[in-house]
Amino acid sequence: MNRPLVIGNWKMNLDYVEAVHLTQQIGVIVKNKPLEHVDLVVVPPFVDIRSVTSVVESERIAVDVGAQHASVHDAGAHTGEISVSMLQRLNVKWILVGHSERRAMYAMTDEVVAQTLRAVVRQGVHAVLCVGEELDVRRDDGHLDFVTAQLHAALEGLDEKWRPLVTIAYEPVWAIGTGLTATTEQVRDMTEHIRAVAASLSLGEARVLYGGSVNADNAASLISEGRVDGFLVGGASLKADSFLAIGQAAHDCYAGKR
Ligand code: PEP
Repeated sequence: MNRPLVIGNWKMNLDYVEAVHLTQQIGVIVKNKPLEHVDLVVVPPFVDIRSVTSVVESERIAVDVGAQHASVHDAGAHTGEISVSMLQRLNVKWILVGHSERRAMYAMTDEVVAQTLRAVVRQGVHAVLCVGEELDVRRDDGHLDFVTAQLHAALEGLDEKWRPLVTIAYEPVWAIGTGLTATTEQVRDMTEHIRAVAASLSLGEARVLYGGSVNADNAASLISEGRVDGFLVGGASLKADSFLAIGQAAHDCYAGKR
């Protein structure tokens, strides 16, 4: 098992005051009970990032700060966009690439996902590539091929020096925000498949996360039976105790306590 990575995607929730409050709550809990075997990342909305990194740095909280998206462009006439270098200046270490909500609602094609991933890693920032099928694809038993195609589209030909910056998050669209967590067997089968495809693309070392209605109750079995290297968490990351309970489950599995 790779060292676990647990990422909280706050999506379009929490203004900067609420974001600071949640960050401080996370700080209090991890100081009392450090999760030394887990990498923790919080991913606030863009407008909260500066405030969150200030709290993390001034209070020396053991979490990294990420961003939910970035432009493929570095600067210029792209109204409403935010570049990777702007995020990097804010000490952002991780950027989600191709989250299913961006693919579905903001026309993020496989081609744009591939370009964004390159824009991220070229700046030395970690890219969390999100892949996963819709429910109809799974019902038709096309999920393995679908995810294979997404991985090839995003990762084929990626320069060797950027590969260590790639993490893959398997997020079946039907499990996101629905309470319908994939079973541990479904997660294990897909995780093994993703690892094989990644290895064929010379990315065999990449961490493979699961996302989709993860909570404090299902995290341990998803790690031990689903064999994931951690989680991308949405709803349960909006409360410090539920987010860190997931982190604790990952920590204990890695430390061999479960
Ligand atoms: C997500 O949006 O990446 C996600 C996994 O959300 P949730 O945990 O709420 O299903």
